[in-house]
Amino acid sequence: MKIINLGSCNIDYVYSLDHIVKVGETEATDRLEIFPGGKGLNQSIAIARAGSSVFHAGCVGRDGGLLVDLLSESGADVSLLQTVEGQNGHAIIQVDTKGNNAIFLFAGSNAMVSKDYIEAVLSHFSEGDLLVLQNEISNVDYAIRRAHKRGLRIVFNPSPFRDAIKEIDFGMLSYLILNEVEAAAISGCESPEEAVHFFREHYPTLGVMLTLGEDGCVLIENGRELWQSAFCVDAVDTTAAGDTFTGYFVSELAKGSDPKTRLKIACAASALAVSRKGAAPSIPTRGEVLSVLSRLTPRDSHQKDTLLKRKIDEYLDGSLASATLSGLAKKLGYSSAYTGSLVKRLVGDSFSKYLQAKRLQLAANLLLNTDLSVEDVIRQVGYENQSFFRKRFQEKYGKSPLQFRNREVCQNEQ
Ligand code: ADP
Repeated sequence: MKIINLGSCNIDYVYSLDHIVKVGETEATDRLEIFPGGKGLNQSIAIARAGSSVFHAGCVGRDGGLLVDLLSESGADVSLLQTVEGQNGHAIIQVDTKGNNAIFLFAGSNAMVSKDYIEAVLSHFSEGDLLVLQNEISNVDYAIRRAHKRGLRIVFNPSPFRDAIKEIDFGMLSYLILNEVEAAAISGCESPEEAVHFFREHYPTLGVMLTLGEDGCVLIENGRELWQSAFCVDAVDTTAAGDTFTGYFVSELAKGSDPKTRLKIACAASALAVSRKGAAPSIPTRGEVLSVLSRLTPRDSHQKDTLLKRKIDEYLDGSLASATLSGLAKKLGYSSAYTGSLVKRLVGDSFSKYLQAKRLQLAANLLLNTDLSVEDVIRQVGYENQSFFRKRFQEKYGKSPLQFRNREVCQNEQ
C-alpha cells in the first residue's frame, strides 16, 4: 500500500516592518525571512517523519528548489513532483513590531495542477493506496473523482474552506480530517458536539477526524465516536498543528494502527509541534514522539463534559415538574435530537428515564420530609397520571408511596 499526497508547496516571504504599509505608502525594510510552507508540503513532511513512505506530488515553480530539497531531506519521494514555468505559490507577509500581520497569497504553481498531470500521477497508484489531499491546489474535485474511480482510499483535509467544498461528494472519501472552523462551515453547527451529530447522521459511513485545538480531537469511525484529549504542553506556536496531526494520523492509518493509537500518537506529535516555533521545523520525528509519549499528560477533556452534566442537572432539578427535552435543548443551545444523545452519553440513560429517576427520588424525599399527601407529592414532582407514578415508584422502591413513608418513618423512630 502506497501513500500519495497531492498538495501545495508554498514559500512564505516574511518582511518585518515598523508598521504595516497603508494605501499609497512605501516603506523600506532589510529584514526578510523565507520559510517553506503549504499544507501539502507540511503534511508530506509529517507523514515521512512519522515513519511512512510518501510520494509528494504537486507543482513547484522554478524558484521552488528549496521546497523540493526540504521534502527530500525529510524523506518524501519527490519523483512525481512537477516543476512548472512561472512563480511558485507564495505568501507575502508583513509583520509589524507588535506582531500584527497582513498577508496576501499568490497561488502560482499550486494553481497549475492540471487534469492531465493528475491522471499521470494517479496512473502510478492503484486500489487500496492512500491519496491525501488538501484544498490549496487546483482541480481537487477532479482528483477525488478520478482517484475514487481507481479504488484509492481518499483522505481529504478541506482546508482552507471554500464554499465549493460543499459540492464535493463526501461519499467518495474514506476520511475527512478537519478542524472546528471547517466542521462548522460544512455542517452549519457551532459546537463540536453538534457537528459530530451532524456527520454521524448525514455521512454514516464516512470516517471523520475532527480536531479541536487544545481540546483534543474526536474520531467518528464505523459508527463509533472516540474522543482524545490534547496533551499538556507550553504552546508557543500553533502553526502546522493540524498538518502534523494529519500526517501522523495518515501514517498510523497506513500502518494499520487501531483508532486509539492513531489518535494518541497524532495528538502527541501535534502537541510537540505546538511547543516549538515554525511550521516544517516544528514537526517532530516518530522517535521524538515515542520518547515523550509516556511523559505527556492529557489536558482535562472531561471539564467540558462535567460542565454540561452540571447544566443538565441544574435544569432538571430546577424545573422537575415541567422539564422537557426541548426545554433542556433550549437551555443548552442545542437541537433536541443532539441533546437527547448528549444526555445518553453523559448520564448513561435516556432523557425520559433520567428525568423519571430524578422525579422518583424527589418524591421519596418529599414523602419522608414533608407532610404533603401522596397525591400532592405526585403532583409536585410533575406526574399527572397518578397510577403511572405509583407503578414506577413500586418498581424502584419495592413499596407503595404510603408504605414507603410509613416504614421509613417507623424505622427512623426505632
Ligand atoms: P488546525 O491547526 O488545523 O486548526 P487544531 O488547532 O485543531 O488544528 O490542532 C490540531 C491538533 O493539534 C489538536 O487536535 C491537538 O491534538 C493539537 N493541539 C493544538 N493546539 C494545542 C495546544 N495548545 N496544546 C496541545 N495540543 C494542541
